[in-house]
Amino acid sequence: ANETKEFDVLVIGSGPGGYTAAKRAAEAGLRVAVAERERIGGVCTNVGCIPSKVLISEAHRFEIGGRSNLDFAEVQAFKDAVVQKQSGGVGFLLKNKYTETFRGEARLISDHEAIIDQGGTSTRIRFEHCILATGSRPIELPAFPFGGRILSSTEALGLQQVPESLIVIGGGYIGIELGQTFAKFGSKVTILEGGDQILPGFEAELTRPVAKKLQENQVDIFTGAIAERVEQQPDRVTVHFKENGNPRQATAQYVLVTVGRRPNTDGNLGLDRAGVKLAERGLIPVDEQGRTNVPHIFAIGDIVAGPALAHKAYYEAKVAVEALTHHHAKVDYRALPLVVFSDPEVASVGWSETDARARGTEVVTGRASYAINGRALALRAAEGFVKIVAEKETERIIGAQIVGAEASNLIAELALAIEMSATLEDIALTIHAHPTLGEIVMEAAEAAIAKRRK
Ligand code: FAD
Repeated sequence: ANETKEFDVLVIGSGPGGYTAAKRAAEAGLRVAVAERERIGGVCTNVGCIPSKVLISEAHRFEIGGRSNLDFAEVQAFKDAVVQKQSGGVGFLLKNKYTETFRGEARLISDHEAIIDQGGTSTRIRFEHCILATGSRPIELPAFPFGGRILSSTEALGLQQVPESLIVIGGGYIGIELGQTFAKFGSKVTILEGGDQILPGFEAELTRPVAKKLQENQVDIFTGAIAERVEQQPDRVTVHFKENGNPRQATAQYVLVTVGRRPNTDGNLGLDRAGVKLAERGLIPVDEQGRTNVPHIFAIGDIVAGPALAHKAYYEAKVAVEALTHHHAKVDYRALPLVVFSDPEVASVGWSETDARARGTEVVTGRASYAINGRALALRAAEGFVKIVAEKETERIIGAQIVGAEASNLIAELALAIEMSATLEDIALTIHAHPTLGEIVMEAAEAAIAKRRK
């Protein structure tokens, strides 16, 4: 190494986990080094949350605008501008007198040292603490190697033209969000999902309105569908799959493989040299503060267990920095929202009625529909419902599920309710502005209370 530098904290990765950790640590007055081998802002900012949400809203605008004159080049230019702004914003956060950003790959060489290779030069870093936030990458299926007409989400987001046709392998949230978006832009989309419903993990009543809307978008959905092999021709691909055991095939211009993400804990990272243990599927086991088996090395975000979501990474970053600055902090995922930006949106937080029953907790539930909400009607979004789950004895809110417009925003009130141990009455008696979608949340709480009086 050309040079050795000392820091209180080395953060590896500048995604949501890494940049939040770096910002917090710098605010606490610690000297921070951040290493990033690709783009500042990580997956979320550059090839994940942000670009996908731009395409989703643009596709929605195009759909409600009546399907004429799509300027997809303009859509992509707008997306790139938003990404650049966000990535620049992250870069700005990291510009302060406590933080130094290194553009290169970091590899651990001991439990207190790393080398960052910056094309030609390299810097040796000595650190007191390290926060691993190296994120994840798309899983590649051996029979569907990425390249040519076989796309991961990254290439799909960067397509310069709307494909005439697209096969999506995997009906999880990324596959549904991108598949539906391209369908709205005019692609003929086919989704192959191995499970018995799209968006596995969400209750069927939440996913049904999405399946219905996908049908309106002319999307063909195959469930119980296992993709087996692909034939690439110059201008199209044919995917051979089994639908509940029966051989079938589909042909399209591209195939998008979205079957999950793999943690970036392999390659040159050097976890073994630092003595950091790995668990199954490349995840790093951590305690409630995010400490690995090496107590001054933390791991956060997509490389630790739980749903791979940006806001989980933000949260774990905050807890890890609290922990390393000697504050009492530990993670509590009870109020972690899960959101799918499909049309309509799906969101859930805490327990579902099914979870509660499985755990033997007696619950009371309340449900209210979008169909009679004035604002929903005005928005032409009268499809959907809010369901609240409360503990029967205390009437404390323990979960909620929403399908419908702006579910992604509405779920925040219910996450707060869980975080604050709010009761059904707390929500029912909170004055919600009229006419808003928030009133549906209030009505769901009222509906649960009404059951008590029966
Ligand atoms: P990442 O964002 O993956 O960042 C890790 C960074 O570390 C990368 O930039 C990588 O280059 C760098 N790195 C890795 N190894 C090294 C090394 N050795 N040295 C230097 N740098 C290194 N989540 C949501 O919450 N909401 C959404 O709407 C959403 N939409 C998504 C849509 C798509 C298409 C995808 C793919 C993901 C989406 N996600 C969404 C998930 C979200 O992007 C991830 O959960 C989040 O980015 C994880 O953050 P992270 O900090 O763990 O890692």
